[in-house]
Amino acid sequence: MDIQRWVLFFLISVGRGSALTEISSAQSEQFLNWLYNKSQEASFAIKTTEAHHFRRIAFLHMQAAGLSEQEILKSSIGRGFGIRDGNGILFISHVGQIYPSGFLPIPTGNIIGSSLVEIYRDHPLFKSLRNVESLSGKCGNCPFRWICGGSRARAYASTGDPLESDSLCPYQPQSKGAALDCDS
Ligand code: SF4
Repeated sequence: MDIQRWVLFFLISVGRGSALTEISSAQSEQFLNWLYNKSQEASFAIKTTEAHHFRRIAFLHMQAAGLSEQEILKSSIGRGFGIRDGNGILFISHVGQIYPSGFLPIPTGNIIGSSLVEIYRDHPLFKSLRNVESLSGKCGNCPFRWICGGSRARAYASTGDPLESDSLCPYQPQSKGAALDCDS
């Protein structure tokens, strides 16, 4: 078959997904490294959803291959950005509830009686999701927070705080430092 793209969705334990069990962070790390190598030889594009830390893995592979930081940031990995929830997308439920994304079911208002534009632009949750410096836990300290940022949906599903760490990523940043920034 003439495959164009393989998109792998990583589980977020919300809704019907809460009955399923996630892979471990160690399995995720092993799998994403395998996936990066596959992406280098496949004739089709490989993408992940809710596995933001694939960007960290790709960055480190490219760095090990001799690419400079600037070269990596100009690649398709660097040109993208990490957190999409409330940052270019939002989700409206069948009863009109407005969420930052379909996997992040925190109501910020209702389409009936609220201004969608005002909520998107000014609601504190939307604003904090667009500011990686508001992240807490290890994601908040991580130099990859701009290009990755972790899954906000998984952070919310596992801790109740959408700005906390992504539990699927095993990476442990040493201390808070400057973030790699796609705009730099
Ligand atoms: S610690 Fe968070 S920001 Fe850093 S690579 Fe892991 S998921 Fe991404």
